[in-house]
Amino acid sequence: MTTTVTALAQDIGLARETDYYLMKEQLTQDEVDLLYKVRKFAETEVLPVVNPYWERGEFPFELVPRLAELNIIGDTMAGYGTTPMSAVGSGLVAYELSRVDGSIATFFSVHVGLAMQSIYLLGSDEQKQRWLPPMARLEKVGAFALTEPEHGSDSVILEATARRDGAEWVLNGRKRWPGNAVWCDVIVVFARDMEDGQVKAFVVEKDNPGYAASKIEGKVSLRLVQNADITLDNCRVSEDARLQNCNSFADVARVLKGTRNTVAWASAGHGVAAYDIALNYAQRRTQFGRLIAKNQMIQSVLVEMLGEITAMQLYCIRLGRLIDDGKMSDTMASLAKYFCSVKARHVCRLARDVLGGNGILLDFHVMRHVCDMEALVTYEGTAEIQALIVGREITGQSAFA
Ligand SMILES: Cc1cc2nc3c(=O)[nH]c(=O)nc-3n(C[C@H](O)[C@H](O)[C@H](O)COP(=O)(O)OP(=O)(O)OC[C@H]3O[C@@H](n4cnc5c(N)ncnc54)[C@H](O)[C@@H]3O)c2cc1C
Repeated sequence: MTTTVTALAQDIGLARETDYYLMKEQLTQDEVDLLYKVRKFAETEVLPVVNPYWERGEFPFELVPRLAELNIIGDTMAGYGTTPMSAVGSGLVAYELSRVDGSIATFFSVHVGLAMQSIYLLGSDEQKQRWLPPMARLEKVGAFALTEPEHGSDSVILEATARRDGAEWVLNGRKRWPGNAVWCDVIVVFARDMEDGQVKAFVVEKDNPGYAASKIEGKVSLRLVQNADITLDNCRVSEDARLQNCNSFADVARVLKGTRNTVAWASAGHGVAAYDIALNYAQRRTQFGRLIAKNQMIQSVLVEMLGEITAMQLYCIRLGRLIDDGKMSDTMASLAKYFCSVKARHVCRLARDVLGGNGILLDFHVMRHVCDMEALVTYEGTAEIQALIVGREITGQSAFA
């Protein structure tokens, strides 16, 4: 009997309970409930619509109100309309969203982990009261603008300027890559104070004169996310838009430290998805008169993938608990981001091979994970930069240029 491509693709993106070392036993009941809540949403509402949006490179705005209803905006923040959750819980949200689609997960982590957390960690109480509740309800969507056309890995020497002019600030410069920024409501912009030379943060509203954002076209990773090129041309904001507790780049680093946890979890989500798809496929696809799962080489690849994703799961849960216990260092976050993103990219590529020609079809989802992992290895600090950060710590020698 012949098996059609459509039949093979049927349900191939649905999760298996891939949890070889019983990670779920390490979770609280609240965390398990959160995991299944997000999984149900992702599988029933994101998975059926994601491929056409991916192909068109458009953002599915219809999902935003549904995401708001889930009450999953928390990410270790307390109060201001956010939903309380542990760092592990926050990681599980990234894991489950990424298991289905990296773009939705990235949209979410930019809004929560970068934009909201910047305001939460760097803003005054008044500023938090003003912006966080509508963002927690997803009535306002946020973005985060640190990277510039000439400064990515070395964003510490960013060139955008901020000049104080009475009760206002005048921002000038360019930013590149911020996710959500083409259409977001508020964007946290980092610029150098011309007076003291330190990096300061400003919340800019989308209709602010002097602020312009245009979509970066031709992106083949995270295609639903709208990344922007931004121009600040004498963009005036008031002093109360300057986040009052951002006084240097070290404060920016406080925000990035938390998001590296989320990228590690998101990478694990992509890796697990790719493994699940490869295993589902190997148990359905027949060649030479027998299932491809019967081949030693296919089993060897599947076991390699399982080993890598199990390591990622263990990394992530331990990292989350270290955050919850206040014990995570910057370099621990860097090592997890480095390990999980590089390994997940490898696992996704292995999975794509297991699917043969079908591996490059959107219907089988795995190629989307392959493409999306390329962005995760790069953003929030490339694999090389994470390696340099950890290498400096373990050797006591800085290899940064
Ligand atoms: C999809 C996507 C979404 C993004 N979203 C955001 C966002 O929301 N907000 C935001 O501000 N930014 C965002 N970024 C930017 C992202 O953080 C940067 O792309 C990243 O930091 C790398 O910078 P770069 O692209 O300029 O690469 P470069 O810094 O030019 O690096 C090029 C290569 O050189 C390597 N390299 C650089 N310096 C060294 C060194 N000293 N030693 C060894 N190797 C080195 C890098 O590892 C890399 O391999 C996003 C990027 C992407 C691709």
